[in-house]
Amino acid sequence: MTHNKLNLGASLARAAASLRGLVFPPRCAGCGVLLGGQTPPFCARCATEVMELRQVFCPRCRQPVVLCRCAPHDGITTPIYSLYPYRTGRKDVIARMLLMRKEHDDPDVRAFLAAQMEPLCLYAASQRADIQRWVLAYPPRSKAKKQSCGFDQSQTLAKALSARTGFPLVPCVRRVRGRNAVQKHLGAEARFVNARASYEFDTSYANAIAGAGILLIDDIVTTGATLQVCTDLLLEAGAGCVAAVTAARTL
Ligand SMILES: [Zn+2]
Ligand SMILES: [Zn+2]
Repeated sequence: MTHNKLNLGASLARAAASLRGLVFPPRCAGCGVLLGGQTPPFCARCATEVMELRQVFCPRCRQPVVLCRCAPHDGITTPIYSLYPYRTGRKDVIARMLLMRKEHDDPDVRAFLAAQMEPLCLYAASQRADIQRWVLAYPPRSKAKKQSCGFDQSQTLAKALSARTGFPLVPCVRRVRGRNAVQKHLGAEARFVNARASYEFDTSYANAIAGAGILLIDDIVTTGATLQVCTDLLLEAGAGCVAAVTAARTL
């Protein structure tokens, strides 16, 4: 792309953003108040709460979530790096933001998460000095879900992180057509069985991932079944190693 085209693209994006701001004045992604002059995506109160949530400790290893490497469930061997706690039933600012991201891909929230998760991606990659080349991938939503929302929240987050880290995005995991069972309604064992039947490796990306380190990007990890199934697929397809980087981890 030429320099002029890039400039034009950037000005168009700015124009679209300011038009959006006129029609929908920016609201806090945590509590919904009008932001006025405050910097998106959070009001001052919610921004403080976000920082405080970084201090929540894992009940098992007693470490802050960002340092916790506990396997979320039996059978999960993928190293998982997460920033924030996700506590079911507690409607804290992170829970509200992630809930909102399921329906609406707010560019300010996406940019915030990508900026916060970038160092974690680089840290995860630094743990394997033997791997020369890193790429990003993500577990895609079902086609039906993507069509009803108009976007895939893991894909948009992975794209934003690819732009920040310089790690190419390789969309090599895809959904098996016709498999749409929703993971959140299933128990842990059923999640494994369902996930195994729901994802496959797109063999056209075999060269792109051969020997590479792959970071699987997602908003949230619950049991880790989906991430583990994707890890197994990628290792079988020739990846050098796989780790997951998620915004939040269910405690
Ligand atoms: Zn707020
Ligand atoms: Zn832990």
